[in-house]
Amino acid sequence: MAGQACVAVEGVRFSAAHFIYSDEFRENLHGHNYTAGAEIEGEIGPAGMVINFLDLKGALLEACEPLDHKVLLPGANPLVKLSGDSEGSKEVRVVCEYGEEYVFPRNAAVILRLQNVTAENLAHYIAELLRTKLLHPATAVAITVEVKETPEFGARVRLEL
Ligand SMILES: [Zn+2]
Repeated sequence: MAGQACVAVEGVRFSAAHFIYSDEFRENLHGHNYTAGAEIEGEIGPAGMVINFLDLKGALLEACEPLDHKVLLPGANPLVKLSGDSEGSKEVRVVCEYGEEYVFPRNAAVILRLQNVTAENLAHYIAELLRTKLLHPATAVAITVEVKETPEFGARVRLEL
């Protein structure tokens, strides 16, 4: 019996610090206990599954684990200058356009190629990672990732496969 279905995992947790920085909106450094979920849409295969739950959960855990207990920095924000983004650096120095400065141990920071580390951009980043790393069946058509900063606030991104 074939058909389409959507397989979901949720509740993968990571705790991290971030700040949003733009001309219009600027935050101080603060943290969240994030939760992430992922869904795969596709054809139900001969085994009656779209994808094994554990494969999807494993890929999501692998994507989120490097973010856990880290400071997530925006590596593509023209208002936030980062130095120390190289092998062997002991610290990352962050100098922001409107005067804030931070220094973090290099191993406590993750520099993401994002303009801002928002729930929207994190969801997109994780979805792209899953799209390239997850061995999804050829019959899968889309992947959706949700990242929540709090139980109340989050963002979802859907990518076609
Ligand atoms: Zn926040």
